[in-house]
Amino acid sequence: MPKPHKPKFSLAPVEYRDNSIAGRGVFAKRSFKPGDVIVPYAPKQRRLDVEDPEATAAARSKLTLLSEQWTVIIPDTSVPGGWLCNHSCSPNAAIYSDREGRIQCTRPIMPGEEVTIFYGWVTQNEPERDPCLCGAANCRGFINFDVSSRDAELIEDESEAGQAIRARLEQYVAFLASIGQEQVEETVVRALSNLRPR
Ligand SMILES: [Zn+2]
Repeated sequence: MPKPHKPKFSLAPVEYRDNSIAGRGVFAKRSFKPGDVIVPYAPKQRRLDVEDPEATAAARSKLTLLSEQWTVIIPDTSVPGGWLCNHSCSPNAAIYSDREGRIQCTRPIMPGEEVTIFYGWVTQNEPERDPCLCGAANCRGFINFDVSSRDAELIEDESEAGQAIRARLEQYVAFLASIGQEQVEETVVRALSNLRPR
């Protein structure tokens, strides 16, 4: 069998390099403007129903993506894709979970720049779970935003403690709006109601 022809150059819009914010990352090979699709989330993937126990187990990898049809996209990590994008507190792209899942440009990106997204992880009682190394001027120090059982208990309280909790949440919502990630607010509300004393 003849060897398949290997092109000497690539038209791929991105490359995967190791010298990123955290381990491997995705780098632009050309410029992108807001709205451009940069790369599919996972060129090779499996899809499972959200209720499938295997989907819950896979979520621990933090790489799964929940699509609007309540299917969970599990990337095949032998094939690079948008799932390799690092988090930044000042991202230049965003992740969209409809259909196959994709990374789309939100701020102009120059060739050679690292493509970053905002993960929007909301943790419960694990404030220091994911330290952030993004280096952005507005870096929050942690990738995750944490809500605690105490937050859920006192959120409607008129005390000073209650006011402080609401102020911190409002500050985060303002931050989300400043980077166009308002949808994360919904995750915060859901996490708070999970922690609500019953
Ligand atoms: Zn950061």
